[in-house]
Amino acid sequence: MTKKILLLGSGELGKEFVIAAKRLGQYVVAVDSYNDAPAQQVADEREVINMLDGNELDRVVAIHKPDLIVPEIEAIRTERLYDYEKQGIQVVPSARAVNYTMNRKAIRDLAAKELGLKTAPYQYASTLDEFKTAVKNIGIPCVVKPLMSSSGKGQSVVKSDGDIDNAWNYATTGGRGDHVEVIIEGFVNFFTEITLLTVTQISGNSLFCPPIGHRQERGDYQESWQPCEISPEYLKQAQHMAAKVTEALTGFGIWGVEFFLAKEGVYFSELSPRPHDTGMVTLAGTQNFNEFELHLRAVLGIEIPKITLERAGASAVILAGDNSPEQPKYSGLESAASVPRSDIKIFGKPNTRNYRRMGVALAYDSVGTPIDELRKKAKEIADKIKVN
Ligand code: AMP
Repeated sequence: MTKKILLLGSGELGKEFVIAAKRLGQYVVAVDSYNDAPAQQVADEREVINMLDGNELDRVVAIHKPDLIVPEIEAIRTERLYDYEKQGIQVVPSARAVNYTMNRKAIRDLAAKELGLKTAPYQYASTLDEFKTAVKNIGIPCVVKPLMSSSGKGQSVVKSDGDIDNAWNYATTGGRGDHVEVIIEGFVNFFTEITLLTVTQISGNSLFCPPIGHRQERGDYQESWQPCEISPEYLKQAQHMAAKVTEALTGFGIWGVEFFLAKEGVYFSELSPRPHDTGMVTLAGTQNFNEFELHLRAVLGIEIPKITLERAGASAVILAGDNSPEQPKYSGLESAASVPRSDIKIFGKPNTRNYRRMGVALAYDSVGTPIDELRKKAKEIADKIKVN
């Protein structure tokens, strides 16, 4: 069964998804706003369009007539996905899920109000006055984020009254999308944050991967590790919440469901209806299938009987140090590659920006190896590689 897949967004996660798809004999058209994006380098065909332009999306859907549409990013004219679903195209995981998760307000209200999941206290604001009132209500410290944003863009923490104006300005100029509105969340003093990769299947049970721990800076992931040790009670709560929210959003595929683990309990934070960047640790062979293979199988309706932990692993990101329009060069690969039980993935992005994620270093060993050792090793490997 060869299916034609239209991949909307062709970054590093899309690239690994295409590799998984090609290994199972599928046909992929990779779309992005710029040419030679990572996933386009391994796909059958490519399209370069502005994915926020609904007419452009309609045009490529009409040309390629895909069986499946797989969004890899949030910056898409997502309302159009409902039309494609009506035309009989399988939207992954579903048009509803993609629409809800591209806006923090929709997903937060669904999780907290409709499903009753525990989240940080929150309020919205669309003017500076509303913002000041919301900060007062929620209390300092609080976290401010544009409603339409990801990867920490426009996000900041208000630690004192003096931060209020800056946080507002930063959030309202850094966001994506048409309207200015921000969410103000109570700061959760978590001891760990995790991604619980959850797979919903066409036929078969929902499955959970062993939890992935991660550390963020500037709202962006720096390192992740699997398994992340958490108490059985917290794991049960997280799985229960992940099942509830993915069921409400409907559809099939893998989801990265994010939680904060704190003394007061487990907080639902947000979720991606697709492979998660912190899940790149599964490229270290930590599971019987990596997150991209799981996603592919789930969307094709190939039943996954069980997800098993095969190794302990850690990932650390390789970042660019500056902005350059030139094709980047990588040094230190030989030295990095000489470390036993490790691997490196270079994404193949055609240019750099400061802090742009260019690759990932992976370290692994048998289950039971202290995770701190693997985290340290992954970081050392990442540090050996210089992008210039
Ligand atoms: P997000 O884009 O919402 O996933 O936020 C990015 C990162 O910022 C999270 O992974 C956390 O490390 C941090 N963060 C976000 N919201 C909160 C919060 N309410 N309390 C504490 N840290 C947060």
